[in-house]
Amino acid sequence: MENCIFCKIIKKEIPAHILYEDDSYISFLDIRPLSPGHALLIPKKHYRWVWDMPEEEIAEIFKIANKIANAQRKAFNVEQIKSKIVGEEIPHAHIWLIPDPELTKGTKEDFQSNASLIIDALK
Ligand SMILES: [Zn+2]
Repeated sequence: MENCIFCKIIKKEIPAHILYEDDSYISFLDIRPLSPGHALLIPKKHYRWVWDMPEEEIAEIFKIANKIANAQRKAFNVEQIKSKIVGEEIPHAHIWLIPDPELTKGTKEDFQSNASLIIDALK
């Protein structure tokens, strides 16, 4: 979709700290993080809301959300990953995965090293 910032990230027209990518989904760090490693997970196909996605794709995106959340837990040594689906800010379906803002150590603007920690934990 034209003028959608997430579609531009998918097309690599806008840079992002990508954590995970396959043919249908991509995860990257939020540029306004609420905690170190705050990630977004989105379908590559433009849906307005997560709840517009077909059932199989919902199942698939939550499997990936689970992988990323567990990688964040390992990367930052925290138990809680807050997960939110809101969607007013950017009109492209997305899931927030936010390592515990109270307990996660590190600097949230240190995107490069926070991304590396999660990518390593995903291996
Ligand atoms: Zn989009």
